[in-house]
Amino acid sequence: IDPAVTGSGRVLLAAPRGYCAGVDRAVVAVEKALERYGSPVYVRKQIVHNVHVVRRLEQEGAVFVDEVDEVPEGAHVVFSAHGVSPAVVRAAGERRLQAIDATCPLVTKVHREAVRFARDDRHILLIGHHGHEEVEGTMGEAPDRTTLVGSPDEADVVEVADPDNLVWLSQTTLSVDETMETVRRLRVRFPNLQDPPSDDICYATQNRQVAVKKVARDADVVLVVGSANSSNSVRLVEVALEHGATSAHRIDDASELDPAWLEGAGTVGVTSGASVPERLVEELLRVLAGLGFGTVEEVRTAEEDLVFSLPRELRRDRTGAP
Ligand code: SF4
Repeated sequence: IDPAVTGSGRVLLAAPRGYCAGVDRAVVAVEKALERYGSPVYVRKQIVHNVHVVRRLEQEGAVFVDEVDEVPEGAHVVFSAHGVSPAVVRAAGERRLQAIDATCPLVTKVHREAVRFARDDRHILLIGHHGHEEVEGTMGEAPDRTTLVGSPDEADVVEVADPDNLVWLSQTTLSVDETMETVRRLRVRFPNLQDPPSDDICYATQNRQVAVKKVARDADVVLVVGSANSSNSVRLVEVALEHGATSAHRIDDASELDPAWLEGAGTVGVTSGASVPERLVEELLRVLAGLGFGTVEEVRTAEEDLVFSLPRELRRDRTGAP
């Protein structure tokens, strides 16, 4: 039975998917800053890891830069949702920049844990991806007291000075299962390794992984909408493959869908990363319907109602009055 001919294909749509509270807050922060201060508003790094979001904000007058030394003295600069190290905050201060900190509060929580453990003279094993902006920011809180562990394999070889004085923390957007494997292997070598006080992998990352696992069990192909540099989106592809999908593909939008991926498939799973606007998923569903996958069933594994207040620099009424 070829769904392209019979129209009998089914889509399992994972929920929760898409925007999390931290992304929503960061994107609104840039919009509000543009509204209040006019263009240009500078943004250090991509505000969230999604090409469509970045492109739209650029059109509205945001200017994305890599470092604060590219921002004219005294201008407004927004720090992205992934957070910044204290060195970046200092550099912005030296240029008298008017900083708006859109770091997700759940990333800030990990920064605070790092500061506290460093103050207590503990050594931190930070589980996360080499070169990721969030990891750079968190490590910057205690660079001399933090060692990055990038994978379960790295757990087997990481060297530390004081093996009995260790605590682990993690990036917020990792695979839950892989992180637990890294911790398990660290603990084999360092039995006194202390756990963090609470989960560092955030609620949104966890919820999207649970939902895609359920979808992957019953889907032949899983499509994840998200950008290549979006850690949580890339993890969704891996999790789908580990939990039953025959194939899984990450696409930035429907234009990247290759109909050949759907050959022989009866059920397609669809989800999206935490930085992905829902309109991109809607567009994908329209394209899938055109290819014979017109029946959409939502598979919901959690309800989400978390909302964060805006960065404090923007928490004034909308008229701009102080
Ligand atoms: Fe915050 Fe998690 Fe969203 Fe990252 S994925 S912005 S940590 S809620």
